[in-house]
Amino acid sequence: MNDLNNLICREIKIDVTNICNLSCPLCPDTGRRTAKQQDPELMSFDKFKKFVDGIKVFPEQISFGSKHEPLINKSIFQMIDYINTKQKCLQTTILTNLNLLNSVSDLINSKVKNILIGLDGIDQESYSKYRVGGNFDVVINNIKLIQKYKKNNNLEYPKISIIFVVFRHNEHLIEQAKSFFNQLDVDISFRRTDVYNGFEDWVPINFDNADVKEKSKLCCDEPFKTVNINVFGDVYPCCAEEIIKFPIGNIFNESFEKIWNGKKMIDIRNFLLNKVQKKDIACLLCPIYKNNGYTDV
Ligand code: SF4
Repeated sequence: MNDLNNLICREIKIDVTNICNLSCPLCPDTGRRTAKQQDPELMSFDKFKKFVDGIKVFPEQISFGSKHEPLINKSIFQMIDYINTKQKCLQTTILTNLNLLNSVSDLINSKVKNILIGLDGIDQESYSKYRVGGNFDVVINNIKLIQKYKKNNNLEYPKISIIFVVFRHNEHLIEQAKSFFNQLDVDISFRRTDVYNGFEDWVPINFDNADVKEKSKLCCDEPFKTVNINVFGDVYPCCAEEIIKFPIGNIFNESFEKIWNGKKMIDIRNFLLNKVQKKDIACLLCPIYKNNGYTDV
């Protein structure tokens, strides 16, 4: 972190739509959709291609689906294929609820490396308590189809991992979930839900993340390694909901490198390193900053 003017971005997280097919209760997007505060938007392949063509130094990873469901955008596999053709060693990742998979062969042929699935139940009842609108059997069937395709074609990728968010209603299912997903030959990791004001009843009582307890010197290192880009091309140093009105640039108007090591990003890094005091920086609104690295207290 010595030269803040020349950091290399490790991961770009990009949303190629601003909508989702599920209505998870703690997701801010669910509230916005219910209140009809946003029109659906999809990023076109041409716009995405122009952005990728402008990147001079590629990050190690590009992830699709920071806050919204990437499989809603039918160009998603064309986009991933394009990146993989351009930059062969790159890690490409889809974060998805996997309810909307139309074509296993398109997914595999895109050469996507990782699929991270938000799946926090072991049957329809435990799953749909949080993943409202989701179909457990559809997701499991899609996982099986991908695994079968890989096996039949002797493929190592994509790797499938389950992210099981631990809430109060499912914390007793952790051991069952481990053996259930083990049988499908997929990885599983458990993450404690954050506290959102007014939703404290969702927070597990007994489960804790081991890594949450680990104190870091920096309360947040996101702007030193990643950026988040929304469907309109707006760039943010992280995915914090609180800073949605404070983009640091737009990939359709300026080069990625200019934004990544631009003044706004450097100001945020200096602020987080306690090198400058600022009253107008978006991090001041963020629970992670306010709680010194913890999202739940
Ligand atoms: S402190 Fe919060 S708002 Fe600031 S970069 Fe980190 S996560 Fe984002």
